[in-house]
Amino acid sequence: MKTPAFLDRQRPDVPDLVVPGGVTPFYLQGRPVRGRLVRPGVLADVMLTRHDHHAAVTRLAGKALSVVAALASALKFQGSFSLQIKGNGPVSLLVADCTNTGALRFYIRADEEAVTALLSEKPEPSDYDLTGDGYLALTIDQGPETERHQGIVDISGDSLTDMISHYFKTSEQHACWISLHCELTDAGWRTGALILERLADDGGIHIETDDTPDDSWNTATILASTLKASELLDDALPPRELLFRLFHAEGLQIGQPRALAYGCRCSRARLTEILQNFSDDDLDHMMLDDRLITMTCEFCNISFHFQRDDISSEDSD
Ligand SMILES: [Zn+2]
Repeated sequence: MKTPAFLDRQRPDVPDLVVPGGVTPFYLQGRPVRGRLVRPGVLADVMLTRHDHHAAVTRLAGKALSVVAALASALKFQGSFSLQIKGNGPVSLLVADCTNTGALRFYIRADEEAVTALLSEKPEPSDYDLTGDGYLALTIDQGPETERHQGIVDISGDSLTDMISHYFKTSEQHACWISLHCELTDAGWRTGALILERLADDGGIHIETDDTPDDSWNTATILASTLKASELLDDALPPRELLFRLFHAEGLQIGQPRALAYGCRCSRARLTEILQNFSDDDLDHMMLDDRLITMTCEFCNISFHFQRDDISSEDSD
């Protein structure tokens, strides 16, 4: 028997938070430039504080959230966009993903002792100090009907921005300019991203200015570089105003803002279904002394406890 989610009263306290204007798409009219401004606002604090990490690790996680939110907003169909970083540093695994509807989640595995050791040597470590060497993968999953698209590159660069830029340089055709920030502000943790993409010159774009496409792209990235972290992370500065400050002289056109939301929908009902797919033998192995089975949602950092006797394997009959 499946319990519909709305009857699942034993669902733990996972926030059901939606930030309506989390992503603001825009383009520069007559220029080969389009972009995304990502500001998850309070959602960043709600997600990041569910996990008890050093601030340096939280900062990396927050930047990962912003970048997947930006990249997922370019998905044309149903699906999700995910970033995975696996390295030999104190942070051995980082996973962040976002669906086309803006459902965000992340998980980061850090060796807290190794992080502490790093911080005692270097109080302000770079993202690379945290990840070490390894690889970075970006995956677009648009459902079972379509082929999964995955690109993998070595970790290269000091910051997550550099690492993602390196990915776009090596595996994609078009140029990309990325700025990512995450800080603990007076309002709590905030993260944000500003991303510019250079559109192909032959994409039917009519260049109205005397500038060449190269000039237009360079001008856009120079203007974008003037954005301060404090502006990006300031809740009181509306996205339109922020973009207007940067690009008002460059034919700024703002698109329909998109929502971001707390994206993990783990529940007792869903985990019960997963458990029922195991054999009785496997279930017995998972059981602890007190006949309890514990499952942890790593995204939400929540453990769910099940009585072994309440779970019947669907394989057993
Ligand atoms: Zn969850």
